[in-house]
Amino acid sequence: NIMRKNIVAGNWKMNNDLKATKKLVKKIRKSLKKSDLKDTRVIIAPTFVNLATAVKRSKKSKLEVAAQNMHQAKNGAFTGEVSAEMLRSIGVKTVILGHSERRAYFGETDELLAEKVNAALANKLEVIFCFGEELADRKAGKEEAVVESQIKNALFHLEAEAFKKIVLAYEPVWAIGTGETASPEQAQDMHAFIRKTLADKYGSDVANSVSILYGGSVKPANAKEIFSKPDVDGGLIGGAALKAEDFSAIINAF
Ligand code: PEP
Repeated sequence: NIMRKNIVAGNWKMNNDLKATKKLVKKIRKSLKKSDLKDTRVIIAPTFVNLATAVKRSKKSKLEVAAQNMHQAKNGAFTGEVSAEMLRSIGVKTVILGHSERRAYFGETDELLAEKVNAALANKLEVIFCFGEELADRKAGKEEAVVESQIKNALFHLEAEAFKKIVLAYEPVWAIGTGETASPEQAQDMHAFIRKTLADKYGSDVANSVSILYGGSVKPANAKEIFSKPDVDGGLIGGAALKAEDFSAIINAF
């Protein structure tokens, strides 16, 4: 879509030690050099301990580095946590917030995520905000209601201006790491609904400028068809982002 940047973002989750991080960054850089990707942003999200290395080793390339999470406070007695300011200080410019694994295993609620979004934006970090329904929601026909409330609760306190630094990632929980993908039509339908929800609140200029990524078992074999849908502006990739060959095939699916 000409109004929006295409984005392919790899969420490495809790994978890749230092050595593996260096190796995968190198391979991705190499494959990016070979492709003509003027209109596509490419982002990787390694673990906290390897972020600084990934940032250094991505310099002078089009590869961007994101964190997978952050704490909402500025600093203080929060053992084990990392702040927006710290991420910023090592050259990280983007943070993934609200991933379904954070919600499910670490109890992150919409209310907490609203605070994290605020802290990220206050520190000039771009946010990739994740949300999506569970299988039971879809079976009950409640997927739109669930997605709408996740977006409203975490983001609709923001001014329109803030959406310049927000990317949305629709990730149906039933499709994450399961090998099961939403059909391109299911993805398109939901993305169109998300854009309409944004337009109703902020107007169509804002809604048409926000990139909406699909996530959930995207792989080289299905990326092209999913990315061809008009309201799908790219993907958030889990498993397939851990192999340079698969990740670059997905990037080149645009
Ligand atoms: C994810 O965790 O964001 C994701 C989409 O994972 P996978 O591609 O492995 O389903």
